[in-house]
Amino acid sequence: MRIDDILAGRARHGDPVFSFEFFPPKTPDGERNLQRALDSLSTLRPDFASVTYGAGGSTRDRTLDIVREIKDSYGIEAMAHLSCVGTTADELRSILDQVRAAGIENVLALRGDPPAGETEWRPHPGGLHYSTELASLIAADYEMAIGAACFPRSTRRLPISPTTCASCARRSPRARRSSSPSSSSTTSSTSISSRRRERSGSTCRSSRDHPDHQCGPDQAVHAACGASIPEPLLDALDGYADEPDSVLELGVAYATLQCADLLARGAPGIHFYVLNKAPSARAILGALRLQRPWERFRPERV
Ligand SMILES: Cc1cc2nc3c(=O)[nH]c(=O)nc-3n(C[C@H](O)[C@H](O)[C@H](O)COP(=O)(O)OP(=O)(O)OC[C@H]3O[C@@H](n4cnc5c(N)ncnc54)[C@H](O)[C@@H]3O)c2cc1C
Repeated sequence: MRIDDILAGRARHGDPVFSFEFFPPKTPDGERNLQRALDSLSTLRPDFASVTYGAGGSTRDRTLDIVREIKDSYGIEAMAHLSCVGTTADELRSILDQVRAAGIENVLALRGDPPAGETEWRPHPGGLHYSTELASLIAADYEMAIGAACFPRSTRRLPISPTTCASCARRSPRARRSSSPSSSSTTSSTSISSRRRERSGSTCRSSRDHPDHQCGPDQAVHAACGASIPEPLLDALDGYADEPDSVLELGVAYATLQCADLLARGAPGIHFYVLNKAPSARAILGALRLQRPWERFRPERV
């Protein structure tokens, strides 16, 4: 099923879309973690799950394998991420042929980040420059729902306003972008104002919402996407520097409140970067489903 149809169906009933993002592991231990996370999180019946596409290439083939497994073995709708990094347009078409042959109807069209060790992003000779070009390529020849990455704040490498970011994501008339998971800021108000600029159909992607991570790596994620962490939260985390369990608990509590705030203010869904770990996402989503903050949303107040 296409994710744009899932979003539309949920919106008709006033319900949000919840989804999880996994990544292809590089080691046998990582494979076991992924399997455990899939077994555990699939019981929450998310609306869909997505799988990232590595910049370096070593795990790229695994993206489609895992997407297929999520759909076929777990019965959960799945989306494959695809980036332009290091790939010609013909190679992208060949990957999309495989995605289509696997019965996958959803692709997140990305430009991608530079491979590890490189700082500047350069298009492959014969490749594409922007995610909009990839979205156009998909829309021209493939009957698929196309997702786009959006940022509530301007991106790091080419500073632009969030409005420009949202409009870039929709620039190509042929590229019917169906959903735009937005990288979270840790201030819900930023995500909400970004969302107001976009149409319904974007979901908020939350990395602070997966506090299976400790402070350091999460800050790296935020730095990479140009988001900021509020000072009071940083101070609170600093206070727990030697207590990883407390960092985790604070993260889960904070993320739950943040998601509840977003949903009560009309966010159409939450896309959790679960990083192949289940406990925090289970706790947060469990609490949200009990409290149902989206029922407090009043469109006239937006
Ligand atoms: C939900 C989500 C999932 C992600 N998954 C992955 C993943 O699996 N693998 C991975 O490698 N990375 C992933 N990323 C990161 C993404 O690759 C980076 O954000 C990367 O730096 C840019 O990719 P993009 O698709 O946002 O690029 P683009 O949309 O192409 O944007 C890149 C820059 O170019 C500008 N731009 C876009 N179109 C045009 C145009 N037509 N003309 C002029 N300027 C333009 C944009 O404003 C932006 O500054 C993800 C990000 C998000 C939010």
